Amino acid sequence: MYRAKAYSAASATSPLASTVISRRDPTEHDVQIEILFCGICHSDLHTVRNEWVEAMPTTYPCIPGHEIVGRITKIGSAVTRFKPGDIAAVGCMVDSDGTCPECRAGHEQFCTNVTLTYNFPDKHLGGVTYGGYSDSVVVDERFVLHVPPILGLAGAAPLLCAGITTYSPMRHWGVTRGKKVGVVGLGGLGHMGVKFAHALGAHTVVFTTSPGKKEDAMRLGADEVVVSRNGDEMQKHAGSFDFILDAVSADHDINAYINLLNRDGNITLVGAPPKPLNVAAFALLIRRRSLSGSLIGGIAETQEMLDFCGEHSITSDVEVIPIQKVNEAYERLLKSDVKYRFSIDMASLKSE
Ligand code: NAP
Ligand code: ZN
Repeated sequence: MYRAKAYSAASATSPLASTVISRRDPTEHDVQIEILFCGICHSDLHTVRNEWVEAMPTTYPCIPGHEIVGRITKIGSAVTRFKPGDIAAVGCMVDSDGTCPECRAGHEQFCTNVTLTYNFPDKHLGGVTYGGYSDSVVVDERFVLHVPPILGLAGAAPLLCAGITTYSPMRHWGVTRGKKVGVVGLGGLGHMGVKFAHALGAHTVVFTTSPGKKEDAMRLGADEVVVSRNGDEMQKHAGSFDFILDAVSADHDINAYINLLNRDGNITLVGAPPKPLNVAAFALLIRRRSLSGSLIGGIAETQEMLDFCGEHSITSDVEVIPIQKVNEAYERLLKSDVKYRFSIDMASLKSE
């Protein structure tokens, strides 16, 4: 075991603060990574504040962070895919059983024995896993990804959650040229959704509650922007969408979006508001529409997404902050004031 610097929350109402934690020494299949950048996902905030208390209660102290990019500092004796000095990335998962049908199909995120990057039982040290708001992490190489060298690291970090979470359902539901695709909520996930829908050739429409984000939405790749609080603007798109990605973090009227789907159109929830959403049966019955969910993506698909980003020069639009600004960043997330992902420069942890 060794000591690592980190930022942790002591309770649902405590701000994140500097701390020191134990990490395991790399075992034979592990790599040790010096963390350079870690994105701030709204899931970090939901978890730190124990907002998902029923589905995923939080164990404290909680050290969030699952959009990790860094440099390999040490490898175990059986590691084959990495060497010291390599740039590497870790997302929302750090382990799974590797043998169940889900793992064998490349859907490690649905393995009943998955270990998430934070707030999950830690098989090695006991307690729970600690995430990327830290200067280093030790991970089994099966859960470590290669970052295409062309990508800037601060903007690459958010691909590990915001990227794969939006890429995976778009591939699953066949987003491609000729399709009309909506993205609801222009935050961290939403802005990646816009970039992918555009890169996949779809006619891309952003739905936002923030009129001030209109220009940015167009710059990010939208063909049209709708301010969702304007009923007339919404009505113009009734029954016309093949696919809508809902990336909203808070309670909202999902029926307003279901009504925009065409026959057999699908709306996929990636946003995870703590309270259940109300769904009007008739909105789905008419035109045989469907509502589904999606959770990050498997490891092979995450590498595919990173490679796609390398080919298309896609990274997240980030505001790089020192870790000392993390609590302020959380307050801004709650005000939908993020352009469009915070990425923590982990060098700032050295001064703690
Ligand atoms: P974020 O950066 O805070 O963005 C959320 C966006 O939702 C906001 O920017 C805002 O966009 C919109 N919004 C916020 N409050 C709203 C309200 N009351 N009504 C309507 N729209 C509202 O969050 P994120 O990191 O992208 O995460 C979004 C959600 O996805 C979170 O719940 C997170 O936990 C979840 N998530 C799920 C997965 C998964 O695997 N399924 C993975 C990662 C995250 P506008 O200003 O454009 O309206
Ligand atoms: Zn996330």
